[in-house]
Parts: sequence; structure tokens; C-alpha cells
Amino acid sequence: MISENSKRQYGDELPIAAFATTPGNSALTLIRCSGKESIKLLSMIFSADLKNAQGNSIIHGWILNKENGEEEKIDEVLVSVFRVPKSFTGEDGVDICCHGGSSAGIAVMKVLKSAGFYEALPGEFTFRAFMNGKLDLTKSESVMELVSAKTETGRRRAVLRLSGSLQNEINEIKNLLVQVLAGAEIYLDYSEDEVSIEEGDETAGRLTNKNFAVEALERLNKLSASWQIERIYQEGITIVIAGRPNAGKSSLFNALLKEDRSIVTEIPGTTRDWIEAWVSFEGIPVRLIDTAGLRDSGDSIEKIGIERSLKLLDEADLVLYLLDGGLEEITNEDKEFIIKYSADKKYIFVWNKADRCQQPLNNAKGNPEISLICISAMTGKGITELYSLIASVISRQISLQTGESCIAAIGTERQKNLVDVACRSLEEALALAEREEPLDLIVPLFRDAVNLLGEITGEVSTADILEEMFSKFCVGK
Ligand code: GDP
Repeated sequence: MISENSKRQYGDELPIAAFATTPGNSALTLIRCSGKESIKLLSMIFSADLKNAQGNSIIHGWILNKENGEEEKIDEVLVSVFRVPKSFTGEDGVDICCHGGSSAGIAVMKVLKSAGFYEALPGEFTFRAFMNGKLDLTKSESVMELVSAKTETGRRRAVLRLSGSLQNEINEIKNLLVQVLAGAEIYLDYSEDEVSIEEGDETAGRLTNKNFAVEALERLNKLSASWQIERIYQEGITIVIAGRPNAGKSSLFNALLKEDRSIVTEIPGTTRDWIEAWVSFEGIPVRLIDTAGLRDSGDSIEKIGIERSLKLLDEADLVLYLLDGGLEEITNEDKEFIIKYSADKKYIFVWNKADRCQQPLNNAKGNPEISLICISAMTGKGITELYSLIASVISRQISLQTGESCIAAIGTERQKNLVDVACRSLEEALALAEREEPLDLIVPLFRDAVNLLGEITGEVSTADILEEMFSKFCVGK
């Protein structure tokens, strides 16, 4: 039986299998299997005894293809056996460690499907772990963050969430609100003559734990602000290198990458389109882009490249605009550019080829005054200083946007949206309380906030939301 995936749904509890590594040029390939029947199913196509294997044990043997009474050896493998409750998914499961390359893993996968395993849906292993109470939603999402982390800092921050930093913070804030609700609901459940309220203190008496609500709102606002910095650590920022052809853009791109990625030649206009690479500046992932040289060009292909460069400049977080220190004098195009952008903080003007011309030409400064950093992309002079300048501009931008970063921080847009809606509910509730409005208007807003926090951790969730979330994961996670 070849297992059909089209009819599958999250939560159907069928035995599933997926590559945990990409088949290709590698020493080993890992295939993950999970499901109540997974050990039994695998034992039917495995040369050694699996049925009696203990959890957390590794069994050596052969994956076999048994067809028409014949037995063909497919691959010699190691099978790690996991038994409930000690497994990632909270189900019985196995990891099959096959030989690397493409063929062995693909052949093993084919036999697994014939034995009755279904192809796992994206994120289905983590989905099952969540459904079986192994992870809350913040930890589930951090698994994906960890896999996609682009820098060491990004990894560290995802690990904090995987260890429960956000889950704990949300639960603590929720507990504060539950206490506010518990205090207030007494007054909704009982009529006023059953509960003694001191004269002149009705509203204060009703919301006995109002200061808890204020603290909850403060902590939620902090969490909300944390997303700006987290998003930068996850998605990175874009730095574009621009300037006229031959100014040394590709040379600088390579110097910053510390490797020869971009073509460096003496013929102007070589980088017709743009080239990009990811680098890490002080733990922040940076998409570094080398653009086509900016100049008036009759060549239609080059023109398209230049148009794209200008668009990239618009979208960039930071632009390194190179001036060619090898020229007799600064060009009019450069002058126009300086006049247009000298006041724009996202531009750093770089005087390249300082090995040929030590001092920036006077008219490079001219009017308006710009501060130039002198480098030689060829000899490496000034590159360390430029690197530090870029790092300080980036960190200044981040701290301007975010203030200090905190341990418990938001890791996804979904979490951020829920925190923001919860903040609005609390703000409204506190404003109503301030105006001494009736409690039955205030309490539902607190309940909404508690539910929204429950959605962040997954205590409150619907099948649609979960499916939408996990389908963004990669297969095998
Ligand atoms: P692009 O067109 O702006 O990308 O410029 P390239 O990086 O291709 O460089 C154009 C030419 O300038 C090449 O011959 C480079 O070797 C040379 N060049 C680049 N940077 C320097 C430098 O700092 N000093 C000197 N002397 N030559 C450089």
C-alpha cells in the first residue's frame, strides 16, 4: 500500500515518516517516524527484533524490502527506539539513521510507505508533541525559530523560549489577571447585600487587585516592545552597497564577507544585477547586497540593473555609498547623490581606494558637508573601522527602536498580535475601572485578556489556528 497524503489531516494519529535531514551529499540521513503503531510497523521490515526493544535504545539491523516472498536488503541502519512517554512527540516512535547521499534514504522511505507509514505533514511531529502536552505553543514555535536562526544570538534567543522563558512570563501575567478576576467575580456572583462593601469604597473594593492588572499591563507592554528587536534578530537588516561602477563595491562586498563571492574586474558595469549574502554584525543577521553601479547607461540590461539598485536603496536599512578615490575628481553624479542624501541617517559615505588618494578630495566634502570614512577595499585599510561604524549604527538603530532587551521576549508575529490585543483589553478595563463603571462591563475585558494569553501558550486554541500555524513549519519538524 502506498500511503496517500492528500486526505490526511493534522491529528489523525496515523503512523508518519519524514526526512529529518535533506537527502544529498552527506555522511548520514535521518528519517523520523512516529505513531502508536510505528514500532510494530517497522519491525515487519527490519532484520532485528524491534518489538521487544526498550525505549531509548539503539538497535542495529537492515531495512528489508519483502515482496513476493523475497527479501531484499535496502540499507544497513541504526534505529533509535522511543517509547511513551519518553519521546519528543509523546507517541512511540523511531529515528532511522541511514547511510548518507540521496539513494539510501529515498529507498528506505519507499519501503516505509509500502509498510504503511504516511508522509508527515509540515510540522506534524511538533504538532503531535503539542497535542500530547510535551510542548506549549511558545515552545513549539521556538523549535522553528531555532531551526531558522541565522546567527549565534538568534539561536540563543530561540533557546531561551524553548526553555520556557516566554511561557513562564505569560503564565505569571495570566495568574495576576486571574487574581483580579477572582476578586471581582465574587461581586458579580453575589448580590451587594451578601458581600459587605465599605461605604464610599465600592469600586475600589470591587477591584481589590487592580494593582495586579496594572502590573500585568506593564509586563505585556514590555513583551510587545520586545518583538521589534527579536524580529531584527530573526529577519535581520538589509545593508546595500551602492556607488558608481568601478568605485569598488564588489571589492568591499568581498572584504566584508571575507571571501571572494562577487566578481571584481576593471571593466565598469560588471555587477549588472545584484548579489547578496548573509553576514553577522554583532549577532545581528545582515543581508548584504552588492548592487549594479549607478550611472547613466545606454545599455538596456544595465538600465534594468540600475533601476533595481535604486529600488534596493529605498528598501535598505543602511546604505554604504562608495566614492571612487582613484578618480582625479569627484563626478557630478556622486555630487548630486551627496546633495540628495547627505542628511539621511541611513547613508554612510565611504571614500574607497584610500591607498591611492590618502585624503578625500576637497570637493567630495564641498557643500553640503558630509562625514566620510576612508577605506581601501583592496588593502583592507579602514575595513575594521567601517565594520565598527556599521555595528554601532545598527545597534543605535535597534536601541532607539526598542530600549533595553529583556529575557522573556516575543518570538513570533502571532504572539505579538495576541499580546497587543490583550493590552488593549486591559487598557480599556482599567479605563472603565477608573471611571467607576459597573463591574459587569469590566470583567469580560479581563476574561478576554486571560483567553488571549491562553491562546499564546495554546491552552485555548482551535483546530484552524493550529493547522495554520504548524503548516508553516518544515516537513520532518
Ligand atoms: P565595482 O564596479 O564598484 O563593483 O568595483 P570593483 O570592486 O569591481 O573594483 C573596480 C576596480 O577597482 C578593480 O580593479 C579593483 O581591484 C579596484 N579597486 C577596488 N577597491 C580598491 C582599492 O581600495 N584600492 C585600489 N587601488 N583599487 C581598488
